[in-house]
Parts: sequence; C-alpha cells; structure tokens
Amino acid sequence: MNQKFQEEKRIDLHVHTTASDGSLAPGELVQEAFELGLAAVGITDHDTVGGIDEALAASENYDIEVVPGVEVSSQTGDLTIHLLGYYINHHDNSLKDMLSWMITARNERNPRLIKKLNDLGIPISLEMVHELAGNTVVGRPHFAKALVSLGATQSQDEAFNKFLGSSGGLAYIPKARMPSEKAINCIRQSGGIPVLAHPMTIEKKNVDIYQTVRSLKEQGLEGIEAYYSQHSSNQTERYLELAKRYNLIVTGGSDFHGSAKPDIKLGSGKGSLDVPHSVLSALKDVQRKLS
Ligand code: AMP
Ligand code: ZN
Ligand code: FE
Ligand code: FE
Repeated sequence: MNQKFQEEKRIDLHVHTTASDGSLAPGELVQEAFELGLAAVGITDHDTVGGIDEALAASENYDIEVVPGVEVSSQTGDLTIHLLGYYINHHDNSLKDMLSWMITARNERNPRLIKKLNDLGIPISLEMVHELAGNTVVGRPHFAKALVSLGATQSQDEAFNKFLGSSGGLAYIPKARMPSEKAINCIRQSGGIPVLAHPMTIEKKNVDIYQTVRSLKEQGLEGIEAYYSQHSSNQTERYLELAKRYNLIVTGGSDFHGSAKPDIKLGSGKGSLDVPHSVLSALKDVQRKLS
C-alpha cells in the first residue's frame, strides 16, 4: 500500500498473544490489528518468541507490518522493570538461553504459588493452570483464570488484588529476575533494541526515574515506552522529555492481552492511546545503527 497512507495509520508495539498470556493466537491478532486499520503491530510476549513465526506468516496475508519482539522482567537495584526487545533475531541462541533461564524461573515459582494457595484452602493444582494456559508460558493471569473458575474470586482483577499481586497479594511469590545489565546485553547481542516498558510502573514505586533511566542507558538501553495505555498525557509528556534528555528513542503500545484484560483495546488502549507512526521509523533507524 501507499507508504504515505500507511504513515497516517496507528501502530501498536506492545501486545501479548496465546504464546504467553494473551487470548488471541498470533495469526488472529495480526488479522484483528489489520481489521482495526493498524499499520504495524509489535508482538511482545512474556519470555517467549514462540508467537513470532505465526505472526510473521499472517502478515503475508494482510497489509500490516509485524515487528518481532519480546518482553522480559528484570531487576535493577531493588526494582523490577520490564524490558521490551524489538527486532530481536528470534532464532538466536543467546536469546534462547536467556528465555529458557526465564522459563526456569517461572517453573520454580509456579509450584510454590500453588502450595501457598493450597495452604490458604484453595484446591488449585498446577495441572489445572497448565491446562488453562495451553502450551504456553504460564503466568499469573492463568492462575487468576483458575481462581475465577474455582469460584475463589469473582474476577481476575480480584484474584490479583487478593492473592497474586505484588502489593499485598496473600499468595504473592516473586520469581527470580535477571539483572537488567545482562538482559539488555542479551537483547542487543541478538540484534534487538532494548526499551524500557511502561515507565509509570517504576514511578509508582517512588524512585527517581531520571536516575534509573540514566543508569539503564549506561547499560545499553535505547528507548522508553512513552506512549502506553495507562499513561496520562502528563506522564507521556514527561517520558518524551526524559527520552530527549538521555538521547533515547520512544516507543508505544497498548499491552493488549485480549479477554485477559478486557479494558485494554488493541491499538487504542483505554481509548485515547494513539502511537504515532514516526516511532516506527525511529526504531528502524536504531536497528540500522546497531546492525
Ligand atoms: P507473571 O509474569 O507470571 O508474573 O505475570 C505477569 C502478568 O500479570 C502481566 O501480564 C501483568 O500485566 C499481569 N499482572 C500483574 N499484576 C497485575 C494486576 N495487579 N492486575 C492484573 N494483571 C496483573
Ligand atoms: Zn501479560
Ligand atoms: Fe509489562
Ligand atoms: Fe506486556
């Protein structure tokens, strides 16, 4: 399609599929994004690149660009941060090693989470959660689904507030997290561009975001996700300014999960998200610079 016309369309560079804890299969997601009129969609599943081949194959059938990506949790000081890696080579061995380290961390946490819920009197089992997840990366949203189906909570939101969430959840168990320096390095080594996801989650913890971003930049960070479903316009403005100050690019996306987070819509987040197409060209410029 005409490039100029494409540049007027929205993009969404942060979405989850059934390869992790989203509810649409990668192919369905690409189709949906196309039907919504998006010019590009970034597939950023938690700790896996398992959805990328299907998404890329689907993009052959629709006039939409698929940006391969991944989202990983990591640790910087005492802080948990999420890093997005765009244009990673999803067949790269060092990337695969990092992702299998992350899956091992989940596999160590998940049975402990079950035990804690059992101790609270909830008859949940790991088999049940795996069955709900299907053949994917098993995350807390799958536990939340199981808790709802057992009648232990009314909603997945309540499941997080009461049991699974990090702020006061009765069964919260942190999983091991890779130091940010290592995760950033690994994303770069596999040809990817490391970006700090949803900076508002850091600010919520009352840390100095300038200090954190400066130190991540020293570790090799290339961008921050200024446009995000849950950022207010003031926050977005601040992150745009932060990016300018540290010479980082900005990216943006909804963090769409489908029915797992029904209030967040693909492409438009909570309604007002509008990620400019120019973000994608800047991302491509960095990719050219790094390769
Ligand atoms: P995990 O990677 O298994 O620890 O689970 C992380 C997933 O749980 C991410 O998709 C988060 O968006 C989701 N999540 C974390 N905290 C909450 C919360 N309080 N409410 C709803 N979803 C959450
Ligand atoms: Zn998720
Ligand atoms: Fe995240
Ligand atoms: Fe996400």
